[in-house]
Amino acid sequence: MLDPGRFPQAPWKEVAVSGRSNVGKSSLLNTILGRKNLARVSKAPGKTRTVNFFLVNDRFYLVDLPGYGYAKVSSEMRARWRRLILEYFEQRDSIGGVVQLVDARHPSMKDDLVMMEALMEAGRPFLVVLTKADKVGRGQRQRVLKELALHLGGAPLELIGEKTAEGGGGADVHGRLPVLFFSARTGEGKDELWKWISAHI
Ligand code: GDP
Repeated sequence: MLDPGRFPQAPWKEVAVSGRSNVGKSSLLNTILGRKNLARVSKAPGKTRTVNFFLVNDRFYLVDLPGYGYAKVSSEMRARWRRLILEYFEQRDSIGGVVQLVDARHPSMKDDLVMMEALMEAGRPFLVVLTKADKVGRGQRQRVLKELALHLGGAPLELIGEKTAEGGGGADVHGRLPVLFFSARTGEGKDELWKWISAHI
């Protein structure tokens, strides 16, 4: 399992990327990182899962957290993993932000909601990235955002990356949860994601 004691101690800040397995995390990491300026600096080994730390541009760590939600994982394992990830969120001082991936077609899955509630509780800045956005038509997006907000207890969302959307551009983001539509297939959201990451390292 995760062992935060073996995570690297370095002067760099880190941005963690979290999400269910199959949410599109590897595709997103490949899209935003490519192969440039990237070194895998450490792999904290675990029984079935690993946490990969990538040093990006000699400037910050991108932390690839293990995907959760495998059906075959026992509930005991799942609870243990959840505790460890929460410990990571709460205790690791070098976290500048967390990028939480959620499948844009299924914005209210239980495991994701639990993770987002934990992030809110831990008080970490986080961005919700709605993946596979190419599968969600423009007309469906408001519904997706409404559903997400509703399941997060009515939390006000700040859609970023949509020039035409309400709350885009220079709107006051205070107290709002930033949300971004992303597609590894079309590249949508890539620049905005980098902007958010840059602001949190
Ligand atoms: P991971 O398990 O979270 O690392 O997910 P992967 O990146 O391996 O993707 C899981 C599946 O979703 C694969 O079949 C991908 O081709 C597909 N996928 C990933 N990103 C996108 C996307 O932006 N759009 C679409 N349509 N499919 C995607």
